[in-house]
Amino acid sequence: KAKEEGRDQFRFFEASLMAKAREKLFLEAELRAALERGELFLHYQPQFSLADGRLVGSEALARWRHAERGMIPPDKFIAIAEECGLIVPLGEWALRAACRQGEEWRRAGLGPHRIAVNMSGLQLERADFVATVARILAETGLPPDWLELEVTETYVMRQPEKSARALEGLRALGIALSIDDFGAGQSSLAYLKRLPVQSLKIDRSFITDLPFGENEAAITRAIIALGHSLHLKVLAEGVETPAQADFLRGLGCDQAQGYFYSRPVDVENMQKILRHMDAAPGAGSDQTEPSR
Ligand code: C2E
Ligand code: MG
Ligand code: MG
Ligand code: MG
Repeated sequence: KAKEEGRDQFRFFEASLMAKAREKLFLEAELRAALERGELFLHYQPQFSLADGRLVGSEALARWRHAERGMIPPDKFIAIAEECGLIVPLGEWALRAACRQGEEWRRAGLGPHRIAVNMSGLQLERADFVATVARILAETGLPPDWLELEVTETYVMRQPEKSARALEGLRALGIALSIDDFGAGQSSLAYLKRLPVQSLKIDRSFITDLPFGENEAAITRAIIALGHSLHLKVLAEGVETPAQADFLRGLGCDQAQGYFYSRPVDVENMQKILRHMDAAPGAGSDQTEPSR
């Protein structure tokens, strides 16, 4: 009996593993097709200066609406893309789409505006990555100071030497660089000092518990002090409440991004925000309609 049960359990386990593997293969094939068919698109999440509420830029975030399954969250498809290498063409697509959009806004007189694009360590590791970025800038006509590239702390601290070299090349193009999800990984201060980056983005996990979480408040304060001592701009991710925004402003944090200001929005809504902010500089914290 026990043996039989054990076998049943094993079969169940095996079946669920198979289902998982099949699901992954399915999504991988669908993602490849979606990329080829141009079914991915970008949403933009505005970023604001905490001191005066000015709109300073936005982060471009990849979106995938599957014909049958509807929206598939990036947390799911980016991970799959990383595993199977599709993140390289996907990242290049995102970069080109964001640069094209930025140039369109620039020509329409909206801005100056800096668009931050996420890049994977796998892209940064490619020998031709800097040339690819240079080509995309030339193709689209976007001035390099309108572009920011984000790389995660986890990646740069795992590959400090390689990262530093690749980042130097990007920096030489005149692009801004930032470290994403900062505080969650294990940063070495010696490495951090040597990286040619201009800003740190404090990981959302610390911001969520502000202003009352004592540990989170202490860590946030420390990251801001560290960033400023290295002459870096510090941005807080995932700001959801006015109390969090006030608290961060009080700590001297430079910029913020989060649902309190706006969710990531589609191009049309981002354009509305750009026009509106142009007309009324200083009005930084009005809510926009969620569109996710
Ligand atoms: P990320 O780069 O750290 O982006 C910030 C994420 O936090 C976004 O999730 C955004 O929607 C979410 N967020 C912003 N404000 C708030 C808030 O106030 N509350 C909460 N709960 N969440 C907030 P999203 O769009 O689901 O993207 C998840 C991750 O997927 C990104 O994290 C990034 O690592 C990755 N990703 C998205 N697009 C790309 C891409 O084009 N290339 C690469 N390599 N990765 C991407
Ligand atoms: Mg990011
Ligand atoms: Mg982040
Ligand atoms: Mg993240």
